[in-house]
Amino acid sequence: MTAYQLPVAGRAEVRRAHRDLVRADRTGTALVLLTTCLAAATGLAAPWLIGRIVDHVETGNPDTGTIDLLALGILGSAAATVVLTRFARYLAHRFAERALARLREEFVDNTLALPTNVVERAGTGDLMARTTADIATVGTSLRDAAPEVFVGALQTLFIIGATVLVDPILGLCAVVGVVWLWWPGRWYLRHARPAYLAEGTANSDMSETLAATAAGARTVEAFGLRHRRVHTGDQRVRDAHRTRVRTLYLRSVLFGQVDVAFVLATALVLVAGGLLYVNELTSLGAAVSAALYTTRLADPLNRVLMYLESMQRASASLARLKGVQHAAGGAAPTGGTPRDDRIEVTDVRYAYTDRDVLRGVDLAVRPGERLAIVGPSGAGKSTLGRLLAGVDTPRAGTITVGGVPVADLPPEELRRRIVLVTQEHHVFIGTVRDNLAIAAPTADDTRVLDALAAVEADWVHTLPAGLDTPLGAGDTTLDPAQAQQLALARVLLADPHTVILDEATALLDPTTARHAERAMAAVLAGRTVIAIAHRLHTAHYADRVAVMAAGRVTELGTHDDLVAAGGEYAALWRSWHGR
Ligand code: ADP
Repeated sequence: MTAYQLPVAGRAEVRRAHRDLVRADRTGTALVLLTTCLAAATGLAAPWLIGRIVDHVETGNPDTGTIDLLALGILGSAAATVVLTRFARYLAHRFAERALARLREEFVDNTLALPTNVVERAGTGDLMARTTADIATVGTSLRDAAPEVFVGALQTLFIIGATVLVDPILGLCAVVGVVWLWWPGRWYLRHARPAYLAEGTANSDMSETLAATAAGARTVEAFGLRHRRVHTGDQRVRDAHRTRVRTLYLRSVLFGQVDVAFVLATALVLVAGGLLYVNELTSLGAAVSAALYTTRLADPLNRVLMYLESMQRASASLARLKGVQHAAGGAAPTGGTPRDDRIEVTDVRYAYTDRDVLRGVDLAVRPGERLAIVGPSGAGKSTLGRLLAGVDTPRAGTITVGGVPVADLPPEELRRRIVLVTQEHHVFIGTVRDNLAIAAPTADDTRVLDALAAVEADWVHTLPAGLDTPLGAGDTTLDPAQAQQLALARVLLADPHTVILDEATALLDPTTARHAERAMAAVLAGRTVIAIAHRLHTAHYADRVAVMAAGRVTELGTHDDLVAAGGEYAALWRSWHGR
C-alpha cells in the first residue's frame, strides 16, 4: 500500500506564489532593484573610462592631468561598485529572509489548519520532510541563489546594453556569443533536475545503509550477514558514485560551453573591433571598451547558470509547501450553524484499514444527558469518540449536532460544541497562559485563573512567574496530574456544550484520580457528557448506558433497566460487583 501524500501545488499556483513573494514586500523589492541597478551601472564605468584613456593617448598628445583624472574615475567607480554591490546583496538577503519568514509562518498556519484526519493519513514523514528539507531548500535558494541570479542577470543585461551603446555592431557580436549559451543552457536544465534528484536519493540511500549497518552491527554479526551488508554497502557507494559522475558530466559540458561562448564573443568583438577601427568606423577606445565589457560577461553569466538549477529545485519544494495550503484550504468546513446540541449518530461505519471497526452504529444523545459507553476492549468505543468529536469522518453514515455534520463545523464552532478529553495530556512548550489560550484566545487573566481554580490547580500560584511561567523542556515540568488539570482548565475555557471523556482518568493512580474526579465534576457541570467508561461505577451514575461490542451498540438504556434485562451489561455488572 502506498502512503497517502499531501498534495503538491500546480505550476500556475507556484508562479502565483513567486509573484506574491515579491508583491508582499514592494518597498523591499524596489530597494533591491534600485541598488542592484546602481551597482551594475557603476560597474560599467571602468571599461568605458579605459576606452577614453586609449582614445586620449591615441590623439598623440596625451595630457597626464586628464589621464590621472580618468584613472581616478576608474578607481572611484571600482570602489563604488564594490560598496554598492555589497549593499545590494545585503538588501537582497534581507528581502529573502523576510520572504522566507512569511513563507514559514504561512506554512505553519496551513499545517495547523490541516484537518486531523489528513495529518494522520499522511503520516509524519511527508509533513516532516516538507517542514525540514523543503523549507531548507527554498531558504537556501531565496538566501543565496535568488539574489545571485537576480544580480547576475541584471549585470549581464547592463553589460550588453553598454556594449551596444559603445558600438551597436560590437554589441551584436557580444550578443551572438551569449545566445550561443541558449542551447547548452536548456540542455543542462532539462537534465540537471533528475540527475541532482538521483544524486540526492543515492546519497540518502548510502548514508541510510551505512548507518543501519553500523547501528545493527551486533545483529549483522550474530546472523552472519557481514558479506551481504558489505555487498549492499558497496552497491550503494557505486550508485552514489555513478550519480555523482553524471552530474559532474553535466557541469563539465555546460561550463565547457560557457567558456566557448566567452571565447567566441570576445574573439568576435576583437576581430570586428579591429576591422571597424582599420576602416575608421569606430575609435580604438570604443573597441577596447567593448572587448573589456565582453570579458566581463563571464562572471555574472556563470553565476546565473550555476544557481538556476538550485532555483529550479527550490521551485519544486515551493510546490510541495504550497500543496499543504491545498489540503488545509481545500477541506475548509462550510457547515451551517447547529440549531441545538442534540447529537445523532446514524448507521455509522468506519475503517482504519480495509476492515470496518464500526459496523452500523446508531445513537442519539440528548442535550444535558450523561451517557456512558462501555464494552470490551477493541469494541470501537474510542473510535466512536473520535468521530463524535469531529477528529475523523465516518466512512458511511452521518454524525450530526443540531442537524449539521460534525465534520463540517469550522474549528471554532466545533470547539464550542464538542471537546474530546483523552488520557493524553499534552503540555505545549510555552507559558501556562499559552497552554490555556489555545482553548480561548481572548480569555483575560481572571477567566484563566478562575478556570484553574475550578480544577483545583492551586499550584499555579506557587510557580515563579505565575501564568507567565514557561513550561516544557528545560523549564518547569508538570506532573501527570497537573497536566490533566491543565487539560481540564482548557475544557472549561473552551466552554463546550458536550464533553467526550475517553478514559480520561484511567492512567492516574487512585488518589490523584479521586482528586481529578472532583475537578472533573466541576468541568462537567451543566454539559452533555459522553463518557467512555473503563470502570463500571462511572456507568452506574450515568443517565443511560450504551454497550458496544464488535463495532455496534448492542444495548442501550438506564443502568437499572439494563441490569434488569439480564443481558451483556447485567453480566458485566454482576462480575464487577461480585468481586
Ligand atoms: P475500544 O476503544 O473499544 O478499545 P478502539 O476504537 O480503540 O476500541 O478500536 C477498535 C478497533 O479499531 C480495534 O480492533 C483496533 O485494533 C482498531 N484500531 C484502533 N485504532 C486504530 C488505528 N489507528 N489503526 C488501525 N486500527 C485501529
